Amino acid sequence: MRKARCSFEDCNSAIIDVNVDDVILLPSSVLRDAKLMQLSKKPSETQQTNEFLLVNDVWDFDNIGVSKEVPEGFTNEENMREVQFEHGGSFWRMDKCLKYLICSDCDKGPIGFGCSLSNQAQRGAQNKVVYLLSLESVKYV
Ligand SMILES: [Zn+2]
Repeated sequence: MRKARCSFEDCNSAIIDVNVDDVILLPSSVLRDAKLMQLSKKPSETQQTNEFLLVNDVWDFDNIGVSKEVPEGFTNEENMREVQFEHGGSFWRMDKCLKYLICSDCDKGPIGFGCSLSNQAQRGAQNKVVYLLSLESVKYV
């Protein structure tokens, strides 16, 4: 299994094992609008989508830091309406972003965020909080 690590050579902290079944594609606007760290040069301007790892439980991380709240501007309904994805046989919509994720050792980031999701198939019936780690923002080997 491949592992996501902090991209900074001096740090290289292990963040999480990447299970490919939990990798989802989100519109590049998510990476850009949430102002997540990008390693390659402006990938969001040339790519339509970016890979994120969906993590159900914060304890699944080897190491992770939780930082400040994601600004309201990004989490308003206008931006979020388009952000839907399939995972585990259901379609999920991002309802609200919560807090940024950062490297727990060197505080570099943000490399992702926590967010609340709702299940489109059973609207109102199923909500959960997950963590979305941007694979553009970490070293992934
Ligand atoms: Zn680090």
